[in-house]
Amino acid sequence: MSNIDDATLTRVAQALGEEDAIRLIDVLKNAEETTDDEIATKTGIRLNSVRKILYKLYDHSLVSLRRTRDPKTGWFIFHWRLQSDQLEGFIQSQKRRVLDKLNIRLEFEKNHDFYFCYTPGCKRIPFEDAVELVFKCGTCGKPLMHYDNDKVLEALGKRVETLRKELGE
Ligand SMILES: [Zn+2]
Repeated sequence: MSNIDDATLTRVAQALGEEDAIRLIDVLKNAEETTDDEIATKTGIRLNSVRKILYKLYDHSLVSLRRTRDPKTGWFIFHWRLQSDQLEGFIQSQKRRVLDKLNIRLEFEKNHDFYFCYTPGCKRIPFEDAVELVFKCGTCGKPLMHYDNDKVLEALGKRVETLRKELGE
C-alpha cells in the first residue's frame, strides 16, 4: 500500500478541504485496519476532527468501516481501512469536475467584454452590466474602463491544458 505518494495524498486532502487528511491517510495506509482512537493518538489530531475526516473519506468510498462492540463498555468500536484502489478514481473525477468548471469560466471570459474601475477589491463587470451602471462602479463609484482579459484567458487556458494532459485527453 506504500505506493500512495505524497502528491496523491495532497490532492485528496485538497479535494476534501481537509489539510489534516494527509496525516490521517498516512496512518491508514501503513495499517491494515485501525480505529479512530489510534489515528488520533498517532497524528495528534483531535478525535472529533479525526472522525469528521473519516466520515468524509467514507462518503467517497475511500475508507471502509467495520463496527464491533467493546465487551467491557458495550460501546461501539469503529475499525477503518483505506480503500487505496479507489484513490486514483477519486482524483480523476475531482480533476474532471475542476476541468468542467474551468471550461465554463473560460467560455465566459471569451464571450464577454469586461469593464473595471481598477480599485483593488472591486469586481470586473461584463459590458452588458456596465451599460446598466452607466459605466460607474456599483461598489466604489469610480468610472469603469475597458479591461483587457488576455492574461486571464492565458492563465485559464494553461490550467485547462495541464488538466487535459493529466486526464489523458
Ligand atoms: Zn470599484
